[in-house]
Amino acid sequence: MNRKDFILSTIMTTLTGPISGLRALAKLREKLPATTCMPALFVGHGSPMNAIEDNRFSREMKNIGQTLPKPSAILMVSAHWETKGTFVTAQENPPTIHDFGGFPKALYEVQYPASGSKWLREAVTKNIHKTSVHATNEWGYDHGCWSVLINMFPNADVPVVQLSLDYSKPPEYHYELAKELSALRYKGVLMIGSGNIVHNLRMISLKGDDFNEPYGFDWAIEINEQIKQHIKNSTHHPLIHYTSLGRAHKLAIPTPEHYLPLLYILALQGKDEEVTFFNDVAVAGSLTMTSLLVKAT
Ligand code: ZN
Repeated sequence: MNRKDFILSTIMTTLTGPISGLRALAKLREKLPATTCMPALFVGHGSPMNAIEDNRFSREMKNIGQTLPKPSAILMVSAHWETKGTFVTAQENPPTIHDFGGFPKALYEVQYPASGSKWLREAVTKNIHKTSVHATNEWGYDHGCWSVLINMFPNADVPVVQLSLDYSKPPEYHYELAKELSALRYKGVLMIGSGNIVHNLRMISLKGDDFNEPYGFDWAIEINEQIKQHIKNSTHHPLIHYTSLGRAHKLAIPTPEHYLPLLYILALQGKDEEVTFFNDVAVAGSLTMTSLLVKAT
């Protein structure tokens, strides 16, 4: 479905809901114990084939998944769900969306059957004050979501809600909106941003047959290092205003949707938290798989 169709077909259901629903939510929230702060993750998803291939990237996603405490729910911000306005998936059992073309049949057969979460959907709505959050049945789990989760949570036994990216808003808006979700980390919610820090599909250049063979153009490696350095130093301002990162940003981030999920995760970083990088490799010349885990020291 293209963006326009999505907007036209979506019934904008605000989540103010009936009073009885709010009471039930309040009860549910009381029942959920406050937890220590859950880590947060930005994952470079790269090729959808990482969902079904056993390769260095999928293996590392699996490894990291095994180190994480089991979340009460997952809030996923995927590069592949852009909307006008802010939406969350509403279904009890969201469908697996195969939003790509030209891949082997096996990839179209993948299902990720994690349930949705009414509680998390309502908690997101309650915590976000910058805008109204609308629930929709017109989306599900896109490949930015399930190609990561199928590796990190292969049992699909943790409920998932996707949060859309409002394409009409500037980067600082996304960073500030994400901050409003910080409290959910103390309710056991794992927030994951799924994209790619450097992502220019028009300039893809393979060295051999394998898309995932390490290979990056000089500019891709250079700006990836520059961005990593800012992340290490917790200097988020130049990352939010990434157009000031020099000319390479035009090649590395030609459109914002694969970069913005990174800002959601950086916005959540607390003072006592540090960042660990994984899958820090450039592939196909113009993509980086660089991923990061934010957690307390
Ligand atoms: Zn993607």
